[in-house]
Order: sequence, then C-alpha cells, then structure tokens
Amino acid sequence: MATNAVLTLDDLDTWQCEGTSLAVLGHPIRHSISPAMHNAALEEMARLNSRFSNWKYVKFDVPPEHLSQAMARLHAKGFFGLNLTVPHKVLAFSRVDCIDPAALPIGAVNTLKREPQGWRGFNTDGYGLRMAVRETLNIELADSHVILVGAGGAARGAAVECLQNKCRSLWIGNRSAENLDRLIADLRGLSASMPVHGFSTESTPSGIPSNALLINATSAGLRPDDPLPIALTVLPKPAGVYDMIYNPAETPLLRIARSLQIPAANGLSMLIHQGVRALEIWSEASVPVAAMREAATRAMQR
Ligand code: NDP
Repeated sequence: MATNAVLTLDDLDTWQCEGTSLAVLGHPIRHSISPAMHNAALEEMARLNSRFSNWKYVKFDVPPEHLSQAMARLHAKGFFGLNLTVPHKVLAFSRVDCIDPAALPIGAVNTLKREPQGWRGFNTDGYGLRMAVRETLNIELADSHVILVGAGGAARGAAVECLQNKCRSLWIGNRSAENLDRLIADLRGLSASMPVHGFSTESTPSGIPSNALLINATSAGLRPDDPLPIALTVLPKPAGVYDMIYNPAETPLLRIARSLQIPAANGLSMLIHQGVRALEIWSEASVPVAAMREAATRAMQR
C-alpha cells in the first residue's frame, strides 16, 4: 500500500500488521506531509539499524465523532504510535489511558505511544515551536514578550512552552471569549509569577509591548477566504511573526509582515521539530533531522 494514501477506519477491516505501524489521524488529513517526513527518516534509520526496517507511517482521515473508536481499533490492530492533528488534540487528552507529566498542564496531546492496555499521551508541539522560532527567526522564547493568537490545542502547547521557558510576558488573543477564558484559567498554576494577559482579536488590544514575538496558532489562513487572525497594523511593530500554518507557505499574515519588513516564518520548521521529537519518543533512538527536513521541503514543493 502507498504510504501517502488517505486511509479510513474501513481499511482496518483488512489491515495486516506486519512490522511496526505508525499513523497520523486528522480531519481533513489529505494535505498532511507527515507520512513523507517520517518515512524518509525511518528509511535512513533502517540503513543504520535493521530494527527500523519494517517501520512505516500512514495517514487516516478520522472525523472527531469517531476518534475514540479509532484509538481503540488502532490499538487492537497493533499500531505502535499515533500523531494527532486538527481537530483531535484536546479531545484525545481525556481519552488516553495515561499522560506524560510534561503534557499534563497543556490539556492537549499530539503524540500517542502504545502501552499494553491503551495509549500514553505526549505533547511535542511546544518543543517544536521553541526549536522552530530559534532556527528561523533567531528568537528565544525565554527572552521574548510573546503575543500568541489562538486558544486551541496548538496554542495550549505554545502557551505552556512560553511560560515554562520564562518568556518576559504572554499576551493571548482569541476570537471566542469562551476558549480564551478556559485556556487562561488552565494556565493559572503555571503563571503565578507572571500575569497572562487575554484579549479579544475582535478589538484593538492595549498595553502590548513593541518588539514582541507574534505567533499565529489559529487555523485562520488555511483557506484563501479566511479572515486575518489578528490585524497586524494595529499592534506595536513585532520583532518577528511565526505562523504555525505551513500550507499555504505564505499566509496573508506572513505577506503583510514581510511587506512591513518584519522577519517572518511559516510553520514548516515546527512541523519538522515536533515530528522529530515524536519519532524520538517512539523509537528511543536518534532521529535524522536533515532527512525529515529534506522530505518535508520536497513534499511541499509537489
Ligand atoms: P484547534 O481547532 O484546536 O484551534 C483552532 C484555533 O483557531 C482556535 O483558537 C479558533 O478560535 C481559531 N480559529 C479557527 N478559525 C478561525 C477564524 N476563521 N478566525 C479566527 N480564529 C479562528 O486547532 P489547533 O490548535 O490544533 O491548530 C491550529 C493551527 O495550528 C492549525 O492551522 C494547524 O494546522 C496549526 N498547527 C501547526 C503545527 C505545526 O507543526 N506547524 C502544529 C500544530 C498546529 P475559536 O476558539 O474562536 O474557535
């Protein structure tokens, strides 16, 4: 079977588990380049260690109402690891059997590892973001005032990473007040010594410092007719703009940032680094970052 095919749960009826199977679950999932990236790394790992010669990574389209069933069936079929993408990260948090302590304050998981009785949940998004921002914008979360837009699963990982790395201040903006308030309440235990400021992206925020790092962790920008996640021109000029979206490679937010001479980067680097960390968790081996980067870049050019 082609490892880039989009599978559904119906394909599990005839699934033959030879070797070690990994998968990403999402809805939609057709656009995902994770199989290309992971299979390239696994191919290189197999050249050095035959233990990896029969590992493969595939993608499943799983709507949110079928997530629990998918997790149970993939476990029963012997899958060893899963990645979760939109819209599953927060949903899966309460459905895994145990949670890596580092993922507990996040309230969302993007990586599951097989345990005898079920799945252990991890979150590698924050690590991926920290490495990506360093690599593409030469910015350290630890030194930065951060404006984070979004309050979903990806924003949760980013917010916890910013606070654990002792960013200078954290401003979180979101469209819906309900999700924003819930995230800020959940962060309270981590942010005792540093206030987390919430604001509505529907209005002009006040008090935001200049030279902050602006991170888009919303899905606004995935589709051509999406609104901007935040009006960049009403903010004091940021030091850099990081958009977690990588497809399209240039969102309207990134285009505006570049037109204002603000350093800007898309989410491909984050995708690579969160994937590296996930593969390290599953394989307990060193992962070839260059092979993943090359495969991801190639897949984006197709
Ligand atoms: P969720 O569905 O959990 O959260 C979506 C967020 O986007 C919410 O804050 C939501 O606001 C906001 N949003 C959605 N549509 C709009 C809109 N039209 N206008 C304004 N805000 C909007 O998704 P995730 O957090 O899992 O993912 C968010 C984005 O990050 C996705 O684009 C995903 O592809 C990307 N991502 C990239 C990664 C990478 O490695 N590069 C890793 C993880 C995610 P509200 O609360 O108001 O509904």
